[in-house]
Amino acid sequence: MKRRFLNFGILILALLLTFSLDAQRLQHSIRKVVIDAGHGGKDPGALGKRSKEKDIVLEIALKTGKYIEENMRDVEVIYTRRTDVFVELFRRAQVANESKADLFISIHCNGSRSLEPQGTETFVMGLHKNQENLEVAKKENAAILLEEDYQAVYDGFNPNSPEAHIIFSLYQNAYLEQSLDFSKRVQEQFRNRVKLYDRGVKQAGFLVLYKIAMPGVLIETGFLSNTKDEALLISNEGQSYIASAIYRAFKEYKECVEKAGQVQHLAKTTPEPEKPAPQPIDPKSSPTGTIVFRVQFFSSSTDKPLTAPEFAKLKSVKKYLHQGMYKFTAGDEKNLEAAIRLKDEMIKKGHKDAFVVAFINEVRLPVDVAVQILQQRK
Ligand SMILES: [Zn+2]
Repeated sequence: MKRRFLNFGILILALLLTFSLDAQRLQHSIRKVVIDAGHGGKDPGALGKRSKEKDIVLEIALKTGKYIEENMRDVEVIYTRRTDVFVELFRRAQVANESKADLFISIHCNGSRSLEPQGTETFVMGLHKNQENLEVAKKENAAILLEEDYQAVYDGFNPNSPEAHIIFSLYQNAYLEQSLDFSKRVQEQFRNRVKLYDRGVKQAGFLVLYKIAMPGVLIETGFLSNTKDEALLISNEGQSYIASAIYRAFKEYKECVEKAGQVQHLAKTTPEPEKPAPQPIDPKSSPTGTIVFRVQFFSSSTDKPLTAPEFAKLKSVKKYLHQGMYKFTAGDEKNLEAAIRLKDEMIKKGHKDAFVVAFINEVRLPVDVAVQILQQRK
């Protein structure tokens, strides 16, 4: 597992290099689009009261493709599935890369434990700005648990580990600008033409997007857990509205790319990308401070000395006081990868609830923010 995680890191570095070279390539025309209906076969995806995600997204995908085929004779539509079959996530990216497509559109439905959340959101590959976005990616990436030998195929990636998602989503997306441009258009169409609740354009680490060598998005067309959304998503009319909105966004995007003649122009003609949410860094601390990652393994309302015998075998044990609780950590690591390795070791040794925490000048901050600051310093 440790080895695999290292391999995963090396793979990401290799991808960074390949994709930054690829970014030099300009796109002048849109001739091929991959439409990816999420899930399928043994993987039903999110479940509604009356529906399964895999069935709805297949209908929407086929309808979207049909609009494009009927109205744009110069565009070839490639589907990752046309029937109710299971397709591995890596295979979906492979289909797109082998066909040298110009755009990848993955279609999904959301689900929540609460009945309340509703509306549409479109994701591009990147670091999640909040827990909610991370949860969407974790849920969609969990599809690999149904694949054979997923640990080997995805280089040790663990879809349940929040830290793994952070490292993974730091991969530089060479097509971020174009992907954001298309996402904005999709959400605009949903909002203005179909009157769907717009949850915005977001970023998170999706396995299905990370190996594609072209702009790509993952569209969450609504919540099957929400009664109103589900009613729309299972109706033939609702599916047609959603498909035609995606089609119109695609048409606009294609026209824009082709009119501009080169991709750089998009930056000037499209609205500003989603502004990052203010990060909850303690104002008393400075982003120029020292960042360390530690493994928190124990918390207690009563204090304990660091010399307590149960801490003897652990690496550099420290404690901090947070919301009236004493929290004990081990390790003092310079990077997240090392802290994850330590965490895995500690879990094996019986500290089952151990998790990684980050500090800047001894003030706790979210792990993803710490990683972002370190990235910026490079
Ligand atoms: Zn899905």
